[in-house]
Amino acid sequence: MENEAEMSGVPASRRPKQSPTQIGNHQLSPETLMMGFGFDPTLSEGSLKAPIFLTSTFVFETAAHGKRFFEGITGKRPGGAEGLVYSRFNGPNQEILEARLKLWEGAEEALAFSSGMSAIATLLLTYARPGDVIVHSGPLYAATETLIAKILGQFGITWLDFPAGATQDEIAAVIEAAKAKGRLSLIYLESPANPTNALVDVEAVRAARDAAFPGDDKPPIAIDNTFLGPLWAKPLDQGADITVYSLTKYAGGHSDLVAGGLVGAKKFLLPIRMMRNTIGTICDPNTAWMLLRSLETLELRMSRAGENAAKVCAFLKDHPKVESVGYLGFLEEGSRQADIYKRHCTGAGSTFSLYLKGGEKEAFAFLDNLTIAHLAVSLGGTETLASAPAAMTHLSVPDERKAALGITDNLVRISIGVENADDLIADFAHALDAV
Ligand SMILES: *Cc1c(COP(=O)(O)O)cnc(C)c1O
Repeated sequence: MENEAEMSGVPASRRPKQSPTQIGNHQLSPETLMMGFGFDPTLSEGSLKAPIFLTSTFVFETAAHGKRFFEGITGKRPGGAEGLVYSRFNGPNQEILEARLKLWEGAEEALAFSSGMSAIATLLLTYARPGDVIVHSGPLYAATETLIAKILGQFGITWLDFPAGATQDEIAAVIEAAKAKGRLSLIYLESPANPTNALVDVEAVRAARDAAFPGDDKPPIAIDNTFLGPLWAKPLDQGADITVYSLTKYAGGHSDLVAGGLVGAKKFLLPIRMMRNTIGTICDPNTAWMLLRSLETLELRMSRAGENAAKVCAFLKDHPKVESVGYLGFLEEGSRQADIYKRHCTGAGSTFSLYLKGGEKEAFAFLDNLTIAHLAVSLGGTETLASAPAAMTHLSVPDERKAALGITDNLVRISIGVENADDLIADFAHALDAV
């Protein structure tokens, strides 16, 4: 929260009361703080819940306040805006959302966006310049790969990648190759990779980056934590500078909104905030309000989905019609991936890969015979979803790359929801019988 000095430009009548984060020496948890943190009912006629602020602009109390706020918005004075100015920059619902988003990773700053992709695009546009090289883990979310390779490519920005499970030496070699090519402006990670589920060793990336850039001018490390965050992985703890979220997935959690978020240190997010102010990629007040509601049950929903996934995967693993299950709970003891998992994750998530015996025919028969699970792409919602990546999300991926990524015709991607686990097992058992 902003301290008094930072808030000095805001008239006392508009200053929200600071929300307590401690009782005595007891630190309150994010799941508790999600109910009220960052919202002061006295500023909204005593309303228990934050109203939706549908307004495009905000009235200044005096001209001097207006000037001071603009000094903050334009960066003439450090510290950012002290008051609300115009809804392309920020609004009360988005500010409360950002205050709460920070709590899950104990981050200094958070920014809300209109989609996961607009968060990623705003991040890339802020850091990458013509002639620069972006180093990234592979594979990435398809639209992110398109944005980096095809769209930024048109502006003279190039990229080099390393496979998600790479060792520190392998990562260091790619960073050296990038430095030889141009200015390395950003290291962009996604973990676990989809659909391989390979985890990126963020600590190794950090060590390799710091060794290659001993000075102050280090390229930031950003990581897409959509699949495990913010509950099961907190990459800022392993040395990432910026965590990226598609809030459409677990954070939104009800498959009824599209939004994105970035969290991290102020010094990395301030230039991104300036870019967002300029291009207007912030989420709207209604979406921010829906996310506030969603965040109240985030821990409950993710915990239940994670427990369900563990039960469902235990059932699927030994089924005679199943070839294998790619689930983070089944990593081979003593393997490098299991070591990364132990250092980086507190849960195996609820999204996994199911490889059936057979090919497309078997995968389609399975999908067409599901009753509870819906046949749809996306993940992290209250309802269970299943899809066939080779025929759907990754249809346009060239065959050899599909093979390298394990995107075979017998692959079904499943995101488990919060239904009763026995009902889900009955659904999968019934669909497998029909294969
Ligand atoms: C869905 C997703 C995105 C894109 O998010 P949108 O909210 O759909 O724009 C980015 N990364 C990952 C890992 C995703 O699953």
